[in-house]
Amino acid sequence: NLTQRLGRVVKNLRGQARLTDENISDMLREVRMALLEADVALPVVKDFIARVKEKALGQEVIGSLTPGQALVGVVHRELTELMGGASSGLNLATQPPAVILMSGLQGAGKTTTTAKLGKWLKERQKKKVLTVSCDVYRPAAIEQLKAVSTQAGIDFFPSTAGQKPADIAAAALDHAKRHYYDVIFVDTAGRLAIDEAMMAEIKDLHALLKPIETLFVVDAMLGQDAVNTAKAFNEALPLTGVILTKLDGDSRGGAALSVRHVTGKPIKFAGVGEKLTGLEEFHPERMASRILGMGDILGLVEDAQRGVDQDKAQEFVKKMKSGKGFDLNDFKDQIGQMKKMGGMAAMLDKLPAQFSAMAQKAGGGMEDKTVRRLEGIINSMTPGERSKPEIIKANRKRRIATGAGVSVQEVNRLLNQFEQTQKMMKQFSKRGMQKMMRGMKG
Ligand code: GDP
Ligand code: MG
Repeated sequence: NLTQRLGRVVKNLRGQARLTDENISDMLREVRMALLEADVALPVVKDFIARVKEKALGQEVIGSLTPGQALVGVVHRELTELMGGASSGLNLATQPPAVILMSGLQGAGKTTTTAKLGKWLKERQKKKVLTVSCDVYRPAAIEQLKAVSTQAGIDFFPSTAGQKPADIAAAALDHAKRHYYDVIFVDTAGRLAIDEAMMAEIKDLHALLKPIETLFVVDAMLGQDAVNTAKAFNEALPLTGVILTKLDGDSRGGAALSVRHVTGKPIKFAGVGEKLTGLEEFHPERMASRILGMGDILGLVEDAQRGVDQDKAQEFVKKMKSGKGFDLNDFKDQIGQMKKMGGMAAMLDKLPAQFSAMAQKAGGGMEDKTVRRLEGIINSMTPGERSKPEIIKANRKRRIATGAGVSVQEVNRLLNQFEQTQKMMKQFSKRGMQKMMRGMKG
C-alpha cells in the first residue's frame, strides 16, 4: 500500500540530521517500489524519481524544516504535479443544452455520479438539468437513475429497456432543446469488463450527441484494472475528464496517479461517499497529502515560510517542540503570524483534522478586529507580565485594561485564551511535530 510505504519512508527519514546522497537514494528506492506496487506505470515512476532527486539535491533546507521534512515536501509537490494542476470543473461553454456523456464500467459509479453532478450544477450554478439513461440492459438501472435524479431535485427523461440507446439519446436531446435545459447528462450501460459491443455503442452515442464533456468514471479501488480500463476508454473516446469514485473507501491512491498519466486528462471530481453530497472537486495537492498520509501539513509549513519571519518561526517551532516557555510574547507573535498567513481560518484548514479541532477550541473564530484588540491588550503589559502571565492579578488587570482602553473582562478573556493556547502547545509538543509529519493515522 502506497500510503503505508511512504509513511514508513517518511518515518525512516525522521531524525536524519542531514540529507546525503545516500539517504536520498534510500528514500527514493522506497518511493520507486511503492509507486510500482501501486500500479503506477514504469516510465512515470522513472521520470518522477529523476525529478524528485534533482529538486531534492538542489534544495536548501529552510528554517524550521528538517532535511527529511524538506525531502517529503519535494515528493509532495511532485506528486501534486503528476496528478495535474488545479481542478478545472465542468465545461459548459457551448450552445445549450451542454451534453455530458458518462462512460465507464458497470459499478464504477456513473449513475450515482450523474445525480451528484446534476445536483452540484443545479445548486451551485443554478442550471436546469436533465438526465437520461441509455442503460437498456438492466431495467433496474433506468429506475435507479430516476430515483437518484428525483432525490437530487433534477429532471429525468424516461426511457425503457425495449428501446435502442441511440433512439433514447436522440429523443432526450430533442426534449432538452425544446424545454431549454442548460445541461443534459446521458448515463450509459457499462459492462463488467471491457467489451467490444459496449465500446461500439458508446462510440455511436458520442458521434450522435457530440458531447462537450465525455467523462470517464472509474472506481479508485480498482488499482491496475483502473489503468487498463482508462487506457481502453481513452482510446475509444475523446475523453475530456475523469471522475474518480469511492475515494472514501480504502483506496490506494495509485489509481489517481496512473489514470491521470495514462489518459492525460484532468481528474475533475472525486466521489467520496454513496450519498449525493459525496462529491468533491478534485484537488491534486490533497490527493498527494492523502498518499503521503499527512493532512495538508506541508502546505502549512510552506505558508509559514512565505508569510512569517524565518527566525521567529524557528524559535516558535523550537518552543513548540520543547513545550516550554510559551508565554504572552509568543502568543502575540503567533497572533501576528496568523494574520500574515491569512488568518486563523486559513491556518486551521491546513492542519490534520485532529489538531484542527484542537486549535479551533483554543483560538478559533478569532476575527481580525478581535486580533487587533488582543494585540492592544498585550502591548499594555510589561515585559515581566508577558513572560510570567500568572503574576497578572486584579490590580495589574485593571491597569492593563485602562491602558488598552478595554474592560477587565476582556483582559480576562485574553488570559483564558492564552492559557488554552498554552495547553494546546503542550499537547502539540507531547504528540510532537514529528508525529504530525508522520501522518495522523489512527
Ligand atoms: P454504475 O454502474 O457505473 O452506474 O454505478 P452506480 O452509480 O450504480 O454505483 C455502484 C455502487 O457504487 C453503488 O452502490 C453506489 O452507491 C456506489 N458508489 C458510487 N460512487 C461512490 C462513492 O464515491 N463512494 C462510495 N462509497 N460508493 C459509491
Ligand atoms: Mg448505472
